[in-house]
Amino acid sequence: MIKYKLICKNCDNFFDSWFSSSKEYDKLKKKNFLICHSCNSSKVEKSLMSPSVLKPKKNIVITNNKHKKVKKMIIEYQRFIKKNFDYVGKNFTYEARLLHYKNKKPIKGIYGSATKEELSELKEEGIEIEMMPWINDTTN
Ligand SMILES: [Zn+2]
Repeated sequence: MIKYKLICKNCDNFFDSWFSSSKEYDKLKKKNFLICHSCNSSKVEKSLMSPSVLKPKKNIVITNNKHKKVKKMIIEYQRFIKKNFDYVGKNFTYEARLLHYKNKKPIKGIYGSATKEELSELKEEGIEIEMMPWINDTTN
């Protein structure tokens, strides 16, 4: 089941509707079976806003000053990781699996880069990983 937020182009009314699939939505839309709950118009369309976007937004405006602080924190965290973890670069997924399946307890943790897909694969395999923002620190 998919919940879509629908908008009526006639009266600007928003309402939620459940469909068994996105194809069902297309079918009903084509046949003009989608009717506005308040004005009975068939000018009903999928709203581009997903329900999650409609949640109250967090204030994500950061001033330059705060941004610098956050950046400093990340860089400090990176220093900690660089000191205590072994960098494996793009071999991250390979090395992570190696550690996981050989049950080798690493003295140091490892860090490196991986794609989103690779990360979700690792998670599915029960390999504990954590993502963090990374800044390419060119100042040192
Ligand atoms: Zn309407």
